[in-house]
Amino acid sequence: MSALALESTVRGSKVQLDRLPSVDRILKSRAVAPLIERHGRSFVTREARALLKQWREEALRAKTIGACGEADVARALSARIEARLEPALRPVFNLTGTVLHTNLGRAVLADEAIARMVGMARSPANLEFDLAGGARGDRDALVEELVCELTGAQAATVVNNNAAAVLLTIAALASRREVVISRGELVEIGGAFRMPDVMKCAGARMVEVGTTNRTHPRDYVEALTPRTALIMKVHTSNYVVRGFTASVDTGALAQIAHPASVPLAIDLGSGSLVDLSSYGLPREPLPQEALEQGADVVTFSGDKLLGGPQAGLIVGTAACIARIRKHPLKRALRVSKLTLSALEATLALYRHPETLGERLPTLRLLTRSRQEIAELAQRVGPAVAGALGEGFVVEQAAVQSQIGSGSLPGEVLPSVGLCIRCRNARRSSGWTLQTLAGALRALPIPVIGRIADDALLLDLRTLTDEDAFVAQLPKLRLATP
Ligand SMILES: *Cc1c(COP(=O)(O)O)cnc(C)c1O
Repeated sequence: MSALALESTVRGSKVQLDRLPSVDRILKSRAVAPLIERHGRSFVTREARALLKQWREEALRAKTIGACGEADVARALSARIEARLEPALRPVFNLTGTVLHTNLGRAVLADEAIARMVGMARSPANLEFDLAGGARGDRDALVEELVCELTGAQAATVVNNNAAAVLLTIAALASRREVVISRGELVEIGGAFRMPDVMKCAGARMVEVGTTNRTHPRDYVEALTPRTALIMKVHTSNYVVRGFTASVDTGALAQIAHPASVPLAIDLGSGSLVDLSSYGLPREPLPQEALEQGADVVTFSGDKLLGGPQAGLIVGTAACIARIRKHPLKRALRVSKLTLSALEATLALYRHPETLGERLPTLRLLTRSRQEIAELAQRVGPAVAGALGEGFVVEQAAVQSQIGSGSLPGEVLPSVGLCIRCRNARRSSGWTLQTLAGALRALPIPVIGRIADDALLLDLRTLTDEDAFVAQLPKLRLATP
């Protein structure tokens, strides 16, 4: 709105905008001095201007103006500045029941990885510098040996995430040529990551074989041509097909690919480095097995079951990895020293599978016993009930957690949670679960649960900082209906 138009509206509606103090007066007021001292004159000036603009617009809309003395402005300005200084990315309590929640940042890092990352942030490092030779080095070399030790691969490289790993693998090995893939594996991982789109992005022509539910070895054999550059197998990690199904396993695919001199790439998605069944969990395919069965390249995520930082690991034969590493996209998708340091520290924990269940938070949370979670519920339940007051009933309930991030779909882990219901759904019409969920999200450390069957569920499997959770409950503000 132009200044002229603004003034005429003001006169027309007789809103006394001149009661608003000027920016100058605000900045000179004694109440604002401490704000300037703390946050600097330029920032406070900018925020004061924005506040006045907002008030002016509200006044015009409402055709009236509220209290706007110096003290009122100073108070509002202080609140506004505090809100603006709140970081956008903040810790939350993930009580959704999904341990590796993509929207909530997936794996929580091990102490060893955090410590290493902090040290690395503070200091220059030999990221691309060979300390022995005193010459330029390769950042991949820092973790390659460890990755190879753990997976049995000849070579390995790391990129920003597994989506990048898949994109780079296809671009490097099959650009302008054909990639054979089963129709049952043309998955969408979430958002814009769909296998057919990735193929297009990588410049490869996708050759679909088989059907949604059944694909046979002969389907692959018949699809091979001189233009075939790659056979791709995608672990269908986020859904299960049941019933009349058939797919070709890695070993059989290798026997089709290799005589034709075509490499075989497997996208495992999660890819655990240890057999989860030895920790009492459902089994998930391992990269080392895929390699043993003849895969030339295997890709998997760093922050899913591996329990490390966001990264994409590419392991495989020396020849394939060399081609992947040389591709220009590799430079665009490379990881930072922070990622590499956290990844190295996380991978090092795998050298001691005996202590992994304790030291790797992802595994610790996945294997947390029902008994331990029930005892936790016993302790925090009363505090939650007390903070919510009369409007709600809080009960301990058997719930089911899931691993998340597409790992082991259909498998659930028995857990214990707090089940919160409105005491009288009809009479207390204003006290909806949505308002409650909103109030929990408005806490200093937002609490994220899930709503199901007219109840708000807080799955306690993933609650580790019990004290911080309970300490902030008195700050819960439920707007009265
Ligand atoms: C999760 C997943 C991806 C993507 O991995 P990000 O690390 O999220 O980029 C790709 N393929 C499969 C099969 C997955 O499960």
